Amino acid sequence: MTVIDRARSVIALAVEEFGSSLAILTSFQREGVVIIDLVMAVAPHIPVMTIDTGRLPAATLDMIAAVESRYGISVERIVPDSMEVEAMVASYGPDLFYDGVARRSLCCNVRKVRPLARRLATVAAYLTGIRRTQSETRSDIDVVDRSGSTVKISPLADWSPDDVMRYTRDRALPESALYAAGYTSIGCDPCTRAVRAGEDERAGRWWWENGADKECGLHFSPDGRVERTVDVLLREVLLRAEGSKI
Ligand code: SF4
Repeated sequence: MTVIDRARSVIALAVEEFGSSLAILTSFQREGVVIIDLVMAVAPHIPVMTIDTGRLPAATLDMIAAVESRYGISVERIVPDSMEVEAMVASYGPDLFYDGVARRSLCCNVRKVRPLARRLATVAAYLTGIRRTQSETRSDIDVVDRSGSTVKISPLADWSPDDVMRYTRDRALPESALYAAGYTSIGCDPCTRAVRAGEDERAGRWWWENGADKECGLHFSPDGRVERTVDVLLREVLLRAEGSKI
């Protein structure tokens, strides 16, 4: 059985088990487009969602348009709470992520983790394109993770970068223009750069941080100490957002 067959069978089982309560979550990197392509062939009704943080690169917005046009779908943009963003920016400025891991995690919380949690509460399961070889923190992910309140399914967990590339080329899938510029992992515009020869696949994410996990909290939580600091910062931001509603 090839990796493509395995992914197809995982997707078929997910569609059978979760039906209309299944969604695709993607940031429009190559893996996400592979998932969309595999799913659209068998279940074109499954919604495709992305988190529009408000800081996405233009190339990602172009990718959303390209995918919408190719599959005749409308991608759902999950957006952060504007009051929370305003309160955070008023407290720490628009580029707070450069001021330490805790503030970076606060930004990821407000712009990504919290909006996604609100949306995921409305579905039973979601499909992602994460792979085990992308980083150390992802090396032991399960294909089907039932540990959270929403089941997370990663049909490409055992795919290599070559598998992804081969499928992308064979199917002539749209690709972000940033890959040609040396990017190997693509996130928000101010937090991602191209990688240098020999660097890890996710080294271009939050490149100014030393020793921190290259994760935004969507798939893995920050360590306990950072998490407690983020909790305090987040509470302050939420209080400020709440206050400005009164
Ligand atoms: S990746 Fe950067 S801009 Fe995007 S949510 Fe995280 S810290 Fe904020």
